[in-house]
Amino acid sequence: MRVPLLALLVLLLITSLVEAVEKPFNFNETPGKLPKEVVPTEYAIRIIPNLGNFTFSGNEIVKLNVRSPVRELVLNGLELKIEAASIDGKDLPLTAIRTDNQKELLTLTLPSEFSAGDHALTLRFTGKINQQGQGLFYMRYQEHGSGARKVMLGTQFEATDARRFFPCWDEPAFRARFQLSVVVPENWLAVSNMPIESEQKIGDGKEVRFASTPPMSSYLNVFVAGELDSIESRVGPTQIRVIATKGKAELGRYALEASAEILKYYNDYFGVPYPLPKLDQIAIPGGFGGAMENWGGITYYESVLLFDPQNSSAATKQSIYEVIAHEVAHMWFGDLVTMAWWDNLWLNEGFASWMGSKCTAHFNPQWEVWLARELPRDPTRRSGIAKEAAMEGDARSTTHPIQQPIATEAEANSAFDDITYKKGQSFLRMLESFLGEAVFRDGIRRYIAAHKYSNTTTADLWNALSEASNKSVGEIAAGWTEQPGFPLVTVKREADSRVRLTQERFTANFKNAPPLIWQIPLTYSVVGETPATLLMTDKTAVLENIPADRPLKLNINGAGNYRVEYDDRSWELLVKALPTLGVEDRVNLMSDAWAFVQVGRSPASLYFRLIEKLPASIDLAEREQIINVLDFVNGLLVGSSEREKFQGYARSLLRPTFEALGWVPKPDELPNAGRLRASSISALGYLNDPETIAGCRERFEKYLGDPASLSPDLRAPVLAVVGRYADEKTWNKLHELGLKTTSIEDKQNYYNALACATDPKLVKKTLAIALADELPTSRAIFLVSRVARDSGHPDIAWEFAKTNMKALLAKVDAAGANRYAPSLFTFFSDDSRADELRNYAKKNLPHASAPEVAKALDEIQFRAEFRDRFVSQLPALIHGGVK
Ligand SMILES: [Zn+2]
Repeated sequence: MRVPLLALLVLLLITSLVEAVEKPFNFNETPGKLPKEVVPTEYAIRIIPNLGNFTFSGNEIVKLNVRSPVRELVLNGLELKIEAASIDGKDLPLTAIRTDNQKELLTLTLPSEFSAGDHALTLRFTGKINQQGQGLFYMRYQEHGSGARKVMLGTQFEATDARRFFPCWDEPAFRARFQLSVVVPENWLAVSNMPIESEQKIGDGKEVRFASTPPMSSYLNVFVAGELDSIESRVGPTQIRVIATKGKAELGRYALEASAEILKYYNDYFGVPYPLPKLDQIAIPGGFGGAMENWGGITYYESVLLFDPQNSSAATKQSIYEVIAHEVAHMWFGDLVTMAWWDNLWLNEGFASWMGSKCTAHFNPQWEVWLARELPRDPTRRSGIAKEAAMEGDARSTTHPIQQPIATEAEANSAFDDITYKKGQSFLRMLESFLGEAVFRDGIRRYIAAHKYSNTTTADLWNALSEASNKSVGEIAAGWTEQPGFPLVTVKREADSRVRLTQERFTANFKNAPPLIWQIPLTYSVVGETPATLLMTDKTAVLENIPADRPLKLNINGAGNYRVEYDDRSWELLVKALPTLGVEDRVNLMSDAWAFVQVGRSPASLYFRLIEKLPASIDLAEREQIINVLDFVNGLLVGSSEREKFQGYARSLLRPTFEALGWVPKPDELPNAGRLRASSISALGYLNDPETIAGCRERFEKYLGDPASLSPDLRAPVLAVVGRYADEKTWNKLHELGLKTTSIEDKQNYYNALACATDPKLVKKTLAIALADELPTSRAIFLVSRVARDSGHPDIAWEFAKTNMKALLAKVDAAGANRYAPSLFTFFSDDSRADELRNYAKKNLPHASAPEVAKALDEIQFRAEFRDRFVSQLPALIHGGVK
């Protein structure tokens, strides 16, 4: 067959891209700054924190294996002052030590050449205890019950901050044993990766010595200490504990039970039992906002670990389970086997996200884990169904492949994004459903057994899965992990019961995107019949024997990471068959339809006519998909004269569901009804629905007198609606309640409500809280993003942030530093703001922020274009909508 020259060139380009397959793990060839001639094998570290001035002093002895003769030692250190050094027992003059702050390196010139073999390095140093979650940090908090102001310590090292705690070879492939000793006040509990080996009184405190870890990466070290309590149980030989500040450990009961269930599941799934003697889940009341998989000592921001049966919502319960399942999966994927370099971060994060969801869904089918949108809604990310959020970003020009080159520390910290986590997760789910659950698990067991206590690249995982499945997994996977974007498959009916499928790259706001091709593990079925699979390896494929009058659905259950566009005839048949489709397939059609509207492939009516034809149901995922879309448009239309009209239309779509649910739970309602009631109230309140607003105010008044009168599920939405329409008196009341409570969940609800206030005077009052001392640092800084999104005044939020940027950035951790300022622009839909961001970035932001700036610029442009297009279609939409 003749191929036109241009097409041939394109094909060659595509082929060369996909075939740039990486090699299995090889220590010498692993990227990084540190020379590979010297390898640390054992660290003995002793740290003495000084709580008076938030500094610490420390010393360490590092056993080194020198693989070939060297004249200098190069290791990582940051914001540490080296006070003494010796090598093999001989002192080194301080002039022999060079500190490069920019490269975060320490270079020690040796008095003479080091021969190959074993050596020992001893260092004495001092460092600082940070306010934000970077290296060793302190947290101030109110003690449960007494309300007394207390302080405690914690660490956060991933990606590259272990080097702020002790000088080390701080790259993941340099595995070593770590033995930590710390000096803390006598009434403190100290926790690290391993159990306590000994304790002895020293001065007015005590010295705690922890057992040595197995060989692991430096970023997995942990140290937490304070006035802490714990509860515990066992799973086989493993002691499991939940640790929290004094008085709160019992709130860890749910987490303890969940951890036991999850640990047993993984012991079986991975085929290698959890290898450490203990596994702690540690709740910390500030410092950072998420959770961190330190081996044997996982840290969590308190609200994603502690559950109060009287006062916590069902959504909190679910997010606790999901986060624990994600973090515990890392004990194998990440800790026992670690990615060789940050370019393969997805091996940790995509896998833990997939495994955590799989385990959560296994034990809690009622939660519709694969369908549910993200919880809790994170103000720094576009809300949406997890897979959808990743696909939205992946369609833009600013996306990147799952595997991307990482040269600097800042790039490593920026790699923690939706593509790494959610596209990674989504691809693994598609691959598992293609290879089969049992075959996939067999491949994972081979992988863990072959690489335990070592490092890997993505190629090692594909090799294990290829052996288990006898399929060339690496070839299928390359297109998904090594090139950006994802495919759109178009469906076209032809004569003789044939259906032609064509793939192209799906893009949004991205002109002249380079064309790409994927090996797509397609699933399809004639509705009502058994699904079939097809590995689509070329630009087109043909399905035979599809009756012309029967509906055909591709991407069964929406498990695949691609979109499907049907020709008119196929779409009509599918819409008619809607009531017979499962909820997963309906949500998949809705998500694809909305994506086509957003990128301008279809008019808005495609989506809205579809949802008007949905069978009456109160299915959570389906309704939340709609709420998500309406929320997004409602936010986009702030300040537009068309907003009121849209709100009326949107209310007419949501009210029937809420009326069926009612304000008060019914004894026999579906398990998800509570969650849907909460999202409906929040959405209708946002849409200015007078009855909902009045209902929320009434319940708030009652709640003030009797907090138990408002069910935990409804607190967040009711308070948010009250906050949105608050006058100064109500604002003050909410603020007073927030100041007083020691429950992190209640506190969060009150401050989130403050962030919703739309009165500019109150918006400014809320923003000022970000600079005060009343919220944990990680929450204080996100208050600004919340205001930008929820108040409808991103302009006031940005003015405030610009004026106070230095103070705000002092509270941001490493992962957030590059994206903080640009992220505040993603709530604008006005082109003039793009220029403002460009100018601001040029003058104020480091080079490492460039990708985040590009994403924000793209988002502003996308929102501006989409808003205008949507407004022009609105009249037809509303008048055409007969309900
Ligand atoms: Zn993770």
